[in-house]
Amino acid sequence: MQFGELAGINQQVSEPNARKICAKFGFEIETGPAPAKPPVPVPATPVQMKPKETPAPEVLVERPPVVTFMGHVDHGKTSLQDAVRHTHVVDKEAGRITQHIGASTIRYQGKMITFIDTPGHAAFTSMRARGANVTDIAVLVVAASEGFKEQTIEALNHALAAKVTVIVAMNKIDLPDADPDKILRQMQQNNIPSEDWGGTVAAVRVSAKTGQGLNDLLDRILLEAEMMELKANPRKSPEAVVLEAQMEQGLGPTASVLVRDGTLRVGDIALCGDCYGKVRSLLSDKGERLKSAGPSVPVKVVGLSGVPEAGDQLVVMPSEKQARQEAEQRIAEKRTAMASKAPAMLTADDLFSKLSSDELETLNLVIKSDVRGSGEAIEQSLAKLPRDRVKSEVLMNAVGAITENDVMLAAASKAIIVGFHVRVNPGVNDLAKREGVEIRLYSVIYELLEDITDALAGKLEPEKRETNLGKARILQIFELSKGFKVIGCRVESGVAKNNAKARVLRNGELIYTGAVVSLKHFKDDVKEVKAGLECGIRLDNFADFEPGDEVEFFEIELKKATL
Ligand code: GDP
Repeated sequence: MQFGELAGINQQVSEPNARKICAKFGFEIETGPAPAKPPVPVPATPVQMKPKETPAPEVLVERPPVVTFMGHVDHGKTSLQDAVRHTHVVDKEAGRITQHIGASTIRYQGKMITFIDTPGHAAFTSMRARGANVTDIAVLVVAASEGFKEQTIEALNHALAAKVTVIVAMNKIDLPDADPDKILRQMQQNNIPSEDWGGTVAAVRVSAKTGQGLNDLLDRILLEAEMMELKANPRKSPEAVVLEAQMEQGLGPTASVLVRDGTLRVGDIALCGDCYGKVRSLLSDKGERLKSAGPSVPVKVVGLSGVPEAGDQLVVMPSEKQARQEAEQRIAEKRTAMASKAPAMLTADDLFSKLSSDELETLNLVIKSDVRGSGEAIEQSLAKLPRDRVKSEVLMNAVGAITENDVMLAAASKAIIVGFHVRVNPGVNDLAKREGVEIRLYSVIYELLEDITDALAGKLEPEKRETNLGKARILQIFELSKGFKVIGCRVESGVAKNNAKARVLRNGELIYTGAVVSLKHFKDDVKEVKAGLECGIRLDNFADFEPGDEVEFFEIELKKATL
């Protein structure tokens, strides 16, 4: 507070202030490892081909609130969103297929509310954070039977950092062990004192199962929205944000966007990240074809030249030519940024040997996933993995099946391809084999992360491959003066080799496994003895060998740690 910054116990303070505070207490700040991937530079000046309009106040109209359910896994985010959606469906027409567009809208008390879909997985923290950026109100879902959990606090911090209004939904209030008082106490402890306890944050008792309190929650959302005086100008050129984007059969690239201001219309020339195109159609979450989408409306945009990235901005350009030029420039900038990232050389093949040495190395990855959101979540989760010895570097993170181009990119940069919910195009596996590129497919994000964590931590067991060297038969046992026993053998096939591994079999039954510690041909120490010759061998432990026993010599080769 002395440094002019008001922050609760769970909030981040600015770095300069953190430094000052640390200095005051005699500590020094050590900054952590640099982020895995420098963000691709965004053109310094946002594209504004049209002069920015300053709207006259009278054209500012009320816009619907954008709401995101956040919270710990299994506390009921999805159930609550579904419950709200199903009790207030509008325009349910037969034959219309609900579209998954990353958000949905409902009409309640004559007003519209937009809900951003909440990915229900811990690894999707990044999408949650992204959700909070377009969000006005975060409904923090806390199971009343369980209380605040790790991800509840994490979600709350994202919401607070994004300065969005928080409403606590005490879900599962129908359960006998629901303990609302505990939640109120935890709200206090986490700096969001509830209204019940003299604070300002609403704590609404709800049950997605019985429907209890759902209207109270919606009432509260509308009340908060009213107090926030959310306004937008539907007459201006649109600004929208990509929620998710993908390649769709029959439609080509599609981008689900949330219009934040202005109105997006069919026929507009859109520039979206490094993609562009004439908006061919706009689809609502209810499968309707819209002519336009105003503030706070989520729509699927069809007609772009490619698949943009989640979080990309969509703006409208005066002409297709200008849109294309700008998109091309952005692609060129991205390419330069990627090229300047010198690829570190490390293949799965030598991963193990690198890991067993103490060097810090880079594990290069090419990520292919079904939707942008998953790819991003994977990348963000990777950035959080421990990186004491090996760090991962994502060379490419794209949507779609694994192609020959991906393999060539991976081969050139000694990368491994990680596929999430995608298939490998025909012929690509063969090419990968020829190029020595490893492709790993996953459908569960945790498994993918676990594998990579293991690889990064050097825990992957190397594959052991045995190479047979030769065989010998024991002819005689000699006892040396020092008490050592030596076996006199004739090499029957291959070679006997000093320091090789050896096993001894009697009538085909294993009686000993160990190593050759000395090998003599007559009186001379030798490295190896060929088939047909006799030799004296000392093994590292004598185990009552007898003439006639068979000795096998072999070596263990450590093959790659397969990622
Ligand atoms: P999410 O991971 O936060 O999206 O949680 P889900 O919506 O998938 O819910 C997790 C589990 O809790 C599911 O088995 C739901 O049926 C159950 N659940 C959700 N809401 C309620 C509720 O209000 N009451 C009860 N009894 N169970 C609920």
